[in-house]
Amino acid sequence: MDIKSVLSQMTLEEKAGLCSGLDFWHFKGVERLGVPSVMVTDGPHGLRKQVGEVDMMGINESIPAICFPTASALAASFDKELLRSVGETIGAECRAEKVGVILGPGVNIKRHPLCGRNFEYYSEDPYLSSALGAAFIKGVQSTGTGTSVKHFLCNNQEHERMNSNSVVDERTLREIYLASFEGAVKEGEPATVMCSYNAINGLFAAENGDMLTGVLRDEWGYEGAVITDWGAIKERVACLKAGLDIEMPGGSGKSDAEIVAAVRKGELDEAVLDRAAERILRVIDRITPKDGREFSFNYELDHSLAGKAAEECAVLLKNDGVLPLRKSEKVLFVGEFAANPRYQGSGSSHINSWKVTSALDAAGADGNGNIDYIEKMGDEALSAALRYDKVVVFAGLPASMESEGVDRTHMRLPEEQNAFISKLCKAHSYVAVVLHNGSPVEIKWVNGVSAILEMYLGGEDVGEAAYRLLYGDANPSGKLAETFPKKLEHNPAYLNYPGYNHSVEYKEGVFVGYRYYDTKNMEVLFPFGHGLSYTSFEYSELSFDKTELTDKDELRVSVKVKNTGSVAGKEAVQLYVRDPVCEVQRPVRELKGFEKVSLEPGEEKTLQFTLNKRSFAYWNTVLGDWYVESGEFIIEIGASSRDIRLCSSVTVTSDVEIPYVFTEYSSLGEVMRTRKGGAVLKPIIKPMLDAMSGGVGNTSDAMGEGAEEMMAAMLDSMPLSTLVTFGIITREQMNGILKAVNP
Ligand code: BGC
Repeated sequence: MDIKSVLSQMTLEEKAGLCSGLDFWHFKGVERLGVPSVMVTDGPHGLRKQVGEVDMMGINESIPAICFPTASALAASFDKELLRSVGETIGAECRAEKVGVILGPGVNIKRHPLCGRNFEYYSEDPYLSSALGAAFIKGVQSTGTGTSVKHFLCNNQEHERMNSNSVVDERTLREIYLASFEGAVKEGEPATVMCSYNAINGLFAAENGDMLTGVLRDEWGYEGAVITDWGAIKERVACLKAGLDIEMPGGSGKSDAEIVAAVRKGELDEAVLDRAAERILRVIDRITPKDGREFSFNYELDHSLAGKAAEECAVLLKNDGVLPLRKSEKVLFVGEFAANPRYQGSGSSHINSWKVTSALDAAGADGNGNIDYIEKMGDEALSAALRYDKVVVFAGLPASMESEGVDRTHMRLPEEQNAFISKLCKAHSYVAVVLHNGSPVEIKWVNGVSAILEMYLGGEDVGEAAYRLLYGDANPSGKLAETFPKKLEHNPAYLNYPGYNHSVEYKEGVFVGYRYYDTKNMEVLFPFGHGLSYTSFEYSELSFDKTELTDKDELRVSVKVKNTGSVAGKEAVQLYVRDPVCEVQRPVRELKGFEKVSLEPGEEKTLQFTLNKRSFAYWNTVLGDWYVESGEFIIEIGASSRDIRLCSSVTVTSDVEIPYVFTEYSSLGEVMRTRKGGAVLKPIIKPMLDAMSGGVGNTSDAMGEGAEEMMAAMLDSMPLSTLVTFGIITREQMNGILKAVNP
């Protein structure tokens, strides 16, 4: 499409018209100029294309489609390739169904375990979330289908999601909440970005120019279109000015007329409208198939990828050796989820699944006659259990507890499940529990059971995957993309969630998830990055291509990993960076790299990671930029955030000076530690320091042991004005110092 030429031929009304949807599921086109309308549908862990009548709530039946594991499950794979291939498959299904944009992925941070949509989000860690989001986007978009990364920004709870204000400080926004979108946007280049309903620091996302234009476009160079979440529009013209392109859904024409009127009255510069219309045309052009490729929906093949993905996502949380089961053993399966697994969440992401498998179906198909089944977790199952070698309980959260629009009210499993499993563990020594849930749960009976296999909401083939994992036909390799705290109250956001009076303050700052638990050295149920295998891995030979670098250099890190067990397996190796001394408070470690490697027994491979400025930097609010504080950084290689196998340090230097503005109340130490301040102050202060150290004997006689250190500390924190009060420097000298050091 010759976009400039099309734009120049469009009337004011046509341009304004492009800025809202045609109906619930379509962007508008301009028929007379050959610009097609584009269908968009929900997902994103499958295709949710409504059939027949489009109802205004979008809740009518959708076509049968493959339901892949939801985002929280996919994240546990720690596998970018897998995310890419799931994305590619869904993209191809969209092409087959003539869908132009799939509405996802959701890359909001899992700030709090109770958020009802946690199952749709990847992680509590922005690096992981963003990298996986980018991989998924690239997969989908490799087919020509567009994506809509959502919900931008700080939509971290469902409670009052449409009218709550997320109050977040600048550093936290940058390091956690924006960072989770940043890589997904810069690397993935999604066709569209969907803004959230909520406000961020007082301004609704749809009209938040700082975010939609300042950060997204001006800083990150985003060239696609921003669409609203469904119904998230505020005052239409203000939103357009802020950088919001398409209002969804559409159909009434009301806000198109408002835009036209504003241009006519001179309240809106037509160039602003032209810019939005151009972006929309570019998106439509980008996702209009031109490659001549034919796509068809291959249900069987895609279903088997869903199963493969479910295997890769499962996390073996605990295993004292009871797993894998042997087919010769008499095993009792207990619980409804063995026959009807829970495999997806409720709300707009709900897929009309093509074929759902259960662990029992899989056992039947495998001809495994050594499994019996009681559905109900009750007395019958308790007494029957004693006749079996091993018992597998299928537990988890009911569908009503994980849904869009509503948060959970507690983090417990249903009471009858807890009671049953606790009793069973007292009566039987070999109990394994399979869990189906989209977000962490408290596990009271953790010490009593022999094994826990977390299947998450693993998509339509989760049952077959669970069966294969239980019997060792597949080896678990997932790792937790979120911490399982011991109890809800331990969560760092506990006291500041869900907020009051339509306002939620993110007072825990950057200390989200493991950043908090690890820094506080708190006991957790299962740490971030944790996941067991039926084999074992040995890590060795951590090495760097250099040990001294500047913040402009890249650092190459390599490490060897060996499968030291007797079965093939995969290991998700994590790289964390730790800044041992820093002028601001930083989490004790932060994930800055991960790689998943597949190893045959005895096989060893070398993994490579590349680190750059961002791996070491924090967001400095004075600079308004990423900043690396010169000094030592420790690179940790771990099997989880609490299982660091290797570490070694490098020195990174930066020549960036932070333009601090000092006042008479700034301390001597603060000023002296800057390059300019040191140069100006040292000659003035040195005679005094010399005199002091000459008289230390007297000082410690008079003031006791440690007086020298005490004096040094006191001076370090002494305001310049107090130096004047004590006559150490004159007021004129102080003013001269301030003039010399301030920008
Ligand atoms: C949800 C979005 C979804 C949209 C369309 C909204 O309520 O928040 O995630 O894509 O509806 O169904």
